Amino acid sequence: RGYCSSSMATVTVMHCQPALWRQSYRTARLGSCHLHTTSSHASSKDHYKVLVLGGGSGGITMSARMKRKFGAENVAVVEPSEMHYYQPIWTLVGAGAKSLASSGRPTASVMPPGVRWVKSKVQEIMPDTNTVKTDNGMKISYEYLIVALGLQLHYEKIKGLPDIEDWVKFKIGSNYSVQTVEKTWKALENFKEGNAVFSFPNTPVKCAGAPQKIMYLTDAYLRKTGKRSKANIVYNTSLPVLFGVKKYADALWEIVKNRNIQVNLRQNLIEVRPDKQQAVFENLDKPGETKVFEYEMLHVTPPMGPVSAVKESSLADGAGWLDVNKDTLQHKRYPNVFGIGDCTNLPTSKTAAAVAAQSSILDRTISKIMKNEKPDRKYDGYTSCPLVTSYNTVILAEFDYDGQPLETFPIDQSKERRTMFHMKADVMPHLYWHGLLKGLWGGPGPYRKIMHLGMK
Ligand SMILES: Cc1cc2nc3c(=O)[nH]c(=O)nc-3n(C[C@H](O)[C@H](O)[C@H](O)COP(=O)(O)OP(=O)(O)OC[C@H]3O[C@@H](n4cnc5c(N)ncnc54)[C@H](O)[C@@H]3O)c2cc1C
Repeated sequence: RGYCSSSMATVTVMHCQPALWRQSYRTARLGSCHLHTTSSHASSKDHYKVLVLGGGSGGITMSARMKRKFGAENVAVVEPSEMHYYQPIWTLVGAGAKSLASSGRPTASVMPPGVRWVKSKVQEIMPDTNTVKTDNGMKISYEYLIVALGLQLHYEKIKGLPDIEDWVKFKIGSNYSVQTVEKTWKALENFKEGNAVFSFPNTPVKCAGAPQKIMYLTDAYLRKTGKRSKANIVYNTSLPVLFGVKKYADALWEIVKNRNIQVNLRQNLIEVRPDKQQAVFENLDKPGETKVFEYEMLHVTPPMGPVSAVKESSLADGAGWLDVNKDTLQHKRYPNVFGIGDCTNLPTSKTAAAVAAQSSILDRTISKIMKNEKPDRKYDGYTSCPLVTSYNTVILAEFDYDGQPLETFPIDQSKERRTMFHMKADVMPHLYWHGLLKGLWGGPGPYRKIMHLGMK
């Protein structure tokens, strides 16, 4: 029930409960019935109280919350994709434990009913005139802007990486995109003997645990199928650590040691030679020094960066990320602009779990700003990473801006647990589709307090 603006005509869509009517060239409001316009004429111009850029995790969540506050007719979302994906489950899709189909739903089905869906790409953001230009020629103005554009994957920055259609032939996979995640599973299924090589790029990434989760699943799969003794598992990471939070890094070092997994720090994938099945890594501590790894399976985590619409606007910081206040999520220079999720420069790990915690803070910040009051709640950087360590165990990492554990459950979460795997595989997807995207789940903060009997 999203109203996409793909036609050249201007149509007014009226919808009331339970019936749905369509009318032309009129906009009105009748009792509880809302009338609103969808248009995409090249010269059309629209105005919304709240304009949301991006209809991913953060964008849909905030549009649901803004609809509750201001009414559906005052909110619009710009998002080009027909499908919305729950990306965290791609870890299990790449390992053959979930289907790709189970990770996606039509964007129309997650768009809050009545909220205007502009089915196009943001081309230019002009915060000095409170206007956004889209690829289909629209100019949309706003009173308040929420930027939730995610980040951009840069597979093209790895020299020699073949066209995606050829990845199966060359035994390459990547859990990071909808086009490549099933190729990971193909490479794993087809594995015979040799090196299984996993990379972690020299850029910020989303879900910093995902590049190694698939490595543990590969280890488990090869053990299950009796091939582990013929495999050498290698994790080459650009980072100087295995994981950014010591408590969980210590637990992961134990696991890699026990499972005979080779970890090489400060190694950055710069080239793939598919015909020879070779991956070339640069030693970041000795620029120019490279090492070639033969592979039987290669899992690529691509370099990532800010989306061009943000990077090229005056909303960006020096590195191209959306420049927001880390406590309130309000833009540092444009007070009517806010940000959420992967597109921001919030100094925390980029995850959907972080989006959840940010959404309740941002909701509150916007309410206060609109009343000309000072924001009174601060985001603590909460983020979470369910580190999948096999087909039935997870270490549930949860931490804040300072890299301090911020655990929900009153147990040691750095231990591998089956219950946490169940949380990851079954509970979290449900919470995502029915809680977060409906604007009803703002992270586990309140539950943490209860679980710890008010002590934390
Ligand atoms: C393999 C993998 C595993 C992960 N595991 C976990 C996990 O276990 N736990 C966890 O919490 N998180 C995990 N994540 C991370 C999580 O999915 C993201 O952090 C989260 O989706 C970020 O939400 P977002 O709204 O910022 O970005 P997205 O959800 O990526 O949404 C961005 C949206 O912007 C749209 N867009 C882009 N450019 C434009 C444009 N120019 N105009 C209009 N729209 C545009 C895109 O189409 C997209 O819909 C994982 C991600 C991956 C890939």
